[in-house]
Amino acid sequence: MAKEMHEFQAETKQLLDLMVHSIYTNREIFLRELISNASDAIDKAHFESLTNRELLEGNDTFEIYLVPDEASHTLTISDNGIGMTYDEVVDNIGTIAKSGTKAFMEKMKEAKEAGGDVSDKEMIGQFGVGFYSAFMIAEKVTIVTRKAGQATAVKWESNGDGTYSIEECEKEARGTSITLTLLPEFYGEKAEENFTDTYKIETLIKKYSDYVRYPIKMNFVIEETPKDEEGKPIEGAEKTKRDEMRTLNSMQPLWTRNKNDIKPEEYNDFFKELFHEWEAPMDVLHTKAEGTVEYTSLLFIPAHAPFNLYHNDYEPGVQLYSRHVFIMDKCKDLLPDYLRFVKGLVDSPDFSLNISRELLQQSRELKLIGKNLEKNILKTLERTLKNDRPKYEKFWEEYGKSLKIGIYNSMYSGNDTVTKLKDLLLFVSSKEASTVSSLKEYVERMPESQKKIYYATGKDRETIEHLPQMELLREKGIEVLFLLDPVDEFAIETIREYDGKQFHSISRGDLELDDVESQEVKKETEDISKKNEDLIKDIKEALTNKVSDVKVSNRLKSSAVCLVADEQGPSIAMEQAFADAKN
Ligand code: ADP
Ligand code: MG
Repeated sequence: MAKEMHEFQAETKQLLDLMVHSIYTNREIFLRELISNASDAIDKAHFESLTNRELLEGNDTFEIYLVPDEASHTLTISDNGIGMTYDEVVDNIGTIAKSGTKAFMEKMKEAKEAGGDVSDKEMIGQFGVGFYSAFMIAEKVTIVTRKAGQATAVKWESNGDGTYSIEECEKEARGTSITLTLLPEFYGEKAEENFTDTYKIETLIKKYSDYVRYPIKMNFVIEETPKDEEGKPIEGAEKTKRDEMRTLNSMQPLWTRNKNDIKPEEYNDFFKELFHEWEAPMDVLHTKAEGTVEYTSLLFIPAHAPFNLYHNDYEPGVQLYSRHVFIMDKCKDLLPDYLRFVKGLVDSPDFSLNISRELLQQSRELKLIGKNLEKNILKTLERTLKNDRPKYEKFWEEYGKSLKIGIYNSMYSGNDTVTKLKDLLLFVSSKEASTVSSLKEYVERMPESQKKIYYATGKDRETIEHLPQMELLREKGIEVLFLLDPVDEFAIETIREYDGKQFHSISRGDLELDDVESQEVKKETEDISKKNEDLIKDIKEALTNKVSDVKVSNRLKSSAVCLVADEQGPSIAMEQAFADAKN
């Protein structure tokens, strides 16, 4: 096939433009991105070779090579991973398919338009813009790649200016080589940062890619003064040069080390590197278990929920390893969906290396490990709620929705999620604007005569405070939970009761404040109803098909009427939610 010129997709062009012209800090992360792609590609080759040995063409030493070249001011990153076909290069490199990249662009644009300070470092780290970051430091990027098992290779080249060329070529070893022709600021003695300097590169690898599972190798040219027989340097002798191939990364999996010897920064760095995160995690859970099943797990709760946590494109799940060998990314059968925000890995000799996803789902060990991990995480959360309230509230702000959705979904899954999670919920209430309470705390504050847990739904505190129904409750000093998130009510409806006390929406039926209110008021209400029987009948007739009943109420103070939902039917907020969903 002859050499062809292609245009980048419009969005890719925009991204490239941003990369080249707007991002000035932290450009060094390009190396982390390219190494991580190389490592991913080797993972794929490794995984596929488990069922198709021939793919490896006799070479099963997985490696990543770095070749800096001062003379041509290039840096080449090579891997012997899976490689790409012609079509894959066009699809993967020329277009932005990933929502993460798109979201990154939108965020950048927003921030720019708002005239704000765009913190590139955080942005890039958060979204992982990947391959395109090469154009932050290179004026030209050349990819030569051969897909494992295929005869022809592909050469792709671009100056990051909107077009790229692509042609077929030859390549001996399978995998991908990416050559970066560096911008003048990044090579030579006067460079801002010299990316052809072996020591600089070594530092970067240690900083960002130390735990990469495959050796990252680079040749060092060692200069030495010749020594005499006694080992003393010979004065005046010309220096000799020798090559030394070194592996730059330690590769020792952090989780295999003793917990007590690991510093918090080490956990944090590991987390950032493995998951392309930019912030230290909120929590780290490192466990070793022996017994019915043997495993080591290292789980993290990220400091912030990802922007797409509840979107379909978010892929939950933890990594699986067997005796430190990577087997699977994002195994979502291990933890329940309400823990979709948990990241991390599990390493167990009980996982077999070439197990298929289908078989894994049915694996007894996997289920057992999953149950244990779930229990651990819940225990940690309970402990945090008890001992470190501010931290727990922070957690709740980020991930509360996930637990509430979990409770709601247990309606279908029919498991005991409600029992597990109900004590972890927090709600604001009529008590104080700034505090959130657990259900336990609410119940502890209830006066003896109060039999139900009252709640109100609305879009914000203001709206609820102004509900006519609030008047009576306020007057009687009864605390009301404020459900401000649409999912709150679904969760509450699923829980049904707490500590033997039913939940009761203040906009539904009779508030049953009988014990709390005097018999006199009750009698008075009944009398008014009797006396106005005809009026009520007339109103009912006038509102046929609009309301199901009209009653005299003692719950109003200054408002003349209020709409309430039927005792049995859905609440007004839920009706609204259903109506919204239909539209
Ligand atoms: P991501 O790694 O998040 O998918 P990137 O922009 O880093 O996004 O890479 C885009 C895609 O290009 C990858 O998903 C992969 O399909 C392909 N790719 C990049 N580098 C390599 C490589 N070294 N070997 C094989 N495929 C690669
Ligand atoms: Mg990548």
